[in-house]
Amino acid sequence: MTVEPLVAIVTTDLAAVTRGRSVVESRLEKTAATGVGWLQANLSLTPFNSIVAPNPWGSSGDLRLIPDLAARFRTALTGSATPFDMVAGNLVELDGTPWLGCTRTMLADALADLETTTGLRMTAAFEHEFQICGAAFAPAHSFSLAALRRTDPFPATLMAALEEAGVAPEVVIAEYGDDQFEVTHEPAGALAAADRAVAIREITRELARSNGWRATFTPKTAPNAVGNGVHIHFSFTDAGGKPAAYDAGRPGGVSAIAGAFCAGVLRHLPAITVLTASSVPSYYRLRPHNWSSSYTWLADRDREATLRICPTVTIGGRDPARQYNIEYRAADATANPYLSLAAIVRAGLEGIKADLGSPPLVTGDPEQMSEAEKAKLGLKRLPETLPAALDAFLADRTVTGWFAPAFVETFIGVKRHEAEQLANHDPAAICDLYGKLY
Ligand code: GLU
Ligand code: MG
Repeated sequence: MTVEPLVAIVTTDLAAVTRGRSVVESRLEKTAATGVGWLQANLSLTPFNSIVAPNPWGSSGDLRLIPDLAARFRTALTGSATPFDMVAGNLVELDGTPWLGCTRTMLADALADLETTTGLRMTAAFEHEFQICGAAFAPAHSFSLAALRRTDPFPATLMAALEEAGVAPEVVIAEYGDDQFEVTHEPAGALAAADRAVAIREITRELARSNGWRATFTPKTAPNAVGNGVHIHFSFTDAGGKPAAYDAGRPGGVSAIAGAFCAGVLRHLPAITVLTASSVPSYYRLRPHNWSSSYTWLADRDREATLRICPTVTIGGRDPARQYNIEYRAADATANPYLSLAAIVRAGLEGIKADLGSPPLVTGDPEQMSEAEKAKLGLKRLPETLPAALDAFLADRTVTGWFAPAFVETFIGVKRHEAEQLANHDPAAICDLYGKLY
């Protein structure tokens, strides 16, 4: 008898872990209408394989996880015996009503609200950094050709696997940190981009496993190591499909509506940081002078800023409007990509609804500025620990108001539990643990 490959129908949870249930490939179509079973209490799963108790769900209740067949990622190139095959799904009640805890639905809803209110559609891309552990590579220089070539055929196989899966990868590089790499993908509709983020993490991990290594996307492998960021790039098109984030006549090229969006993101940034940087070691990364981000700050091509206007090239008369995008840098892979992007969209939409003006383009180092200078530029330090980030989230009623109360309670429960579990561990031990968990 031949082995029929499986397709996993998956959801990604508040610990940023992708979980799901698998069916044989030939059953996928049949399964699509009603999905597979799931349960509410799973949203209270921690990264440590425990379920937070008490939680709003208890031991009763059932859901369905409905695969979105447009979000299927399949590749036979990860080196595993059977193909990697994953379909992102939406969590619904048994009667098909969307479930209040489904982060993929939250992103879809936020994008729909953005479009209804403004006519804008968001295009996005997730840029991932990761490190390979357990490979015993010879030492190599940062960004060097040798650093990439010594891992051959890993980078080429990764690109081929992502291409085959439909992720549309763009570039793979050896990054600055030890055994650190980065992979990017072509911009896509924002929901598809978040699906791709999940696929990139899982395919990269699987390929590394097949080599006998481990790929980690943890924000910090050691307290003073180079961080692994997730940079979320976004831009907009209008109802007619024309680029809408760029205006050559305005500072930094930020259009009025994109400026209002950025102002909303910065206004709510201290509160949403926990949704985009969701673990204890996330806050070892979000420190000044790490090229990560640590203040509420829009800048033109400055890698210390939280919102960075990315470069556009005019070589050969290329149009900047089609390339123009802004990058949110305060994210990492311990955060759920759907929730991260939903939070950015909701915060930006608040800025548009409040008709906020574009934030100033800040130059210089906030750490060298006086308190008065920082206040004038609207520069606030991001929360410095996970518990502080949870407090900032709860203190912003606009932000908590985007979610159902039971969802807020669940999120707070999982993250407080995570912080409490680690309260007596030193940062090195925490980094070590997260290097294994992510
Ligand atoms: N590794 C940095 C981070 O933690 C980013 C470096 C870069 O700009 O690529 O976000
Ligand atoms: Mg990078």
